[in-house]
Amino acid sequence: MQTVLYFDICAIPLFFIIMLTVIIRKMTQGITNKLFISLILLSAVTTVSDLTMELICRTLPTDGFRVFIASLAMYFYFLSQTLAILGYYFFSYAVTGTWYRVRKTKTKVILSLPYSLIILMLLSNPFTGWVFTVTGEDGYSRGSMIWVIYAVTMSYALAATAYFFVNRKYMTVEKLVSLVSLSVLIVGSVVFQYFFPQFPVEMIATAFAFILIILFVLRPEERTDASVGSLSYEAYKGDLRKILDMKRRVQIAAVDFLNARELNSYLGEERYSAYISGIIRQLDALFRRERVFFDIYFEQPGSIYVIIEDMDYDVGDCVARMYAGIVRRSEKEMTSGERLIPRVCCISVPDDLSDFDEILRLGREFYTQIPENTLYNKASDIIASRDYRVMSHMDEILNRAISERKFRMYYQPIYSFERGRFISAEALIRLNDEEYGFVPPGLFIPAAERKGVILPIGDFVLEDVHRFISENDLGELGLEYIEINLSVSQCLQEELPEKLALLGDRYGVSPDKVNLEITETTTAEAGSDIMDNNLEMLSAMGYTFSLDDFGTGYSNMQRVSRLPLKMIKLDKSLVDDMESADGMSIMRNTIKMMRDIDKQLVAEGVETKENLDTLEEIGCHFIQGYYFSKPLPENEFVEFLRKHNKITA
Ligand code: C2E
Ligand code: MG
Ligand code: MG
Repeated sequence: MQTVLYFDICAIPLFFIIMLTVIIRKMTQGITNKLFISLILLSAVTTVSDLTMELICRTLPTDGFRVFIASLAMYFYFLSQTLAILGYYFFSYAVTGTWYRVRKTKTKVILSLPYSLIILMLLSNPFTGWVFTVTGEDGYSRGSMIWVIYAVTMSYALAATAYFFVNRKYMTVEKLVSLVSLSVLIVGSVVFQYFFPQFPVEMIATAFAFILIILFVLRPEERTDASVGSLSYEAYKGDLRKILDMKRRVQIAAVDFLNARELNSYLGEERYSAYISGIIRQLDALFRRERVFFDIYFEQPGSIYVIIEDMDYDVGDCVARMYAGIVRRSEKEMTSGERLIPRVCCISVPDDLSDFDEILRLGREFYTQIPENTLYNKASDIIASRDYRVMSHMDEILNRAISERKFRMYYQPIYSFERGRFISAEALIRLNDEEYGFVPPGLFIPAAERKGVILPIGDFVLEDVHRFISENDLGELGLEYIEINLSVSQCLQEELPEKLALLGDRYGVSPDKVNLEITETTTAEAGSDIMDNNLEMLSAMGYTFSLDDFGTGYSNMQRVSRLPLKMIKLDKSLVDDMESADGMSIMRNTIKMMRDIDKQLVAEGVETKENLDTLEEIGCHFIQGYYFSKPLPENEFVEFLRKHNKITA
């Protein structure tokens, strides 16, 4: 009798440690974790009940009160033990990522029907003694029908084991082994116990199996994004693969936050994560209210994917409610009015797309295809667009363009009010693909930057513009300098000053003939030593800088005034906004402010005479836009200048 107690008592601290691990590792969210926690709790109850009975029945005969307690303990024992096995059965669905199969209440009820037999047996036991009896004289003894309970629980355990095998391709070997070991250990120990009742090893065996599961199966770092407390992007990819494999139909609502990176660096890691997890909780509550089955996944720095099982559910219809939620959360979290700017796209799988990589890519890139000021788009509309076709073949297009040197430089003249002629031009890259035709730089430049192939393109631009300058007498054409766009990666290149110096030498082009355009995004990277150093060195060498696209990002005036910038290029959106009174006032004041800190101003995208006149009146120095000319190929540009630039001196 002594050994009996030792085994069971050992299981209790083990369950306690396992539970502690679960809590410390924050493995409490999601159906898999919740089921696992209930398995631990039920096993603990089973053990305690068993111990209670053993203690009471150690010395026989015993009195009526003790018999009552022992019987009660046995009811708890049977109830918790069988419930744990039912839980284990459902756990087999959750842990293989196929919970959707049993998610409906109806399915759960049907699968639990055999279990009701156990409940009926236990309910009738006080009158029939079919399961067990406890008496003052003989203590605990098994009933004649106890095999029914064994049969039912055994079937659940076997079904779960079989299910693991059927779905083994979604699991690593150690996962499969750990999961199956739970069945083997429990069933094995029950059989063992049947023949050697003096060694009840069942509970300690269960505890060991739980430890295996914690170690090899439930690894929160694989499934969850700890910083925001939702499922991770890795989990999204895994689940998506399964969905495609099983030919399931789902909708994916992809939410992309356009300014995630900026807001992240502005708020700092901790506040940003808290803000995002608030938004995820908000979405979670929203979809619960909408009564659809869903899972939410997060990808750093700012993309959310919601997999929705209901095909009839109208995602477009709920976007406005999602947006309102985000706004509410932002108002709560942020005192100064910053907020994430979302773009949403809904992908029907497999109707819109059925290729794993394409779905991932659309999720990541759809925002580039959504028209400005539009919150939501259906994937089917995006996929049908030409831009998307180009984007989805961008690797191929860029490879071809780089290896076959397909890029050409165009030049867009820039007009000076003061001189009354064109004094410079912006060099703009062009790409004509043999298969996809004209590919706008607005598409392929950011893509090349993302894919890490921007440097050879940047090198081509620098070299070709130097060649152009060396082959033409700028002075004779009336030009003072050419503006060249620099990408972020170029600015972060340590050898940039050296590169320019070499080109200048080779082509006999002095630095004052070249103006370098950097964007606001690039300046946000300033503060990196290399970038600071580059700007400083290049300025010292005699190159000048323009800040491109002013008015589109987070403009930080302090930064603008600290950087060695000669000119500010006012983005086309600011020019277009001059139609409204507010826009006009913003433009007027921006120009005044910039003039106060000695910056020269170039307005981009000027298309009308009206805007031209207004800009002159409010003090803008230079004009670039279709009003004068579109970007032109080299020879047409030279011709244009010969015709329009009347050089008097
Ligand atoms: P950006 O540097 O702001 O260039 C100005 C863009 O505005 C050009 O578009 C130009 O064609 C367009 N634009 C100028 N005037 C008007 C107008 O009156 N109306 C309209 N609708 N558009 C006008 P593009 O050539 O498509 O270039 C887009 C962006 O691609 C550029 O914006 C720049 O960020 C990038 N890019 C172009 N060439 C290069 C390059 O050689 N290197 C790098 N790193 N980026 C480049
Ligand atoms: Mg530019
Ligand atoms: Mg610009």
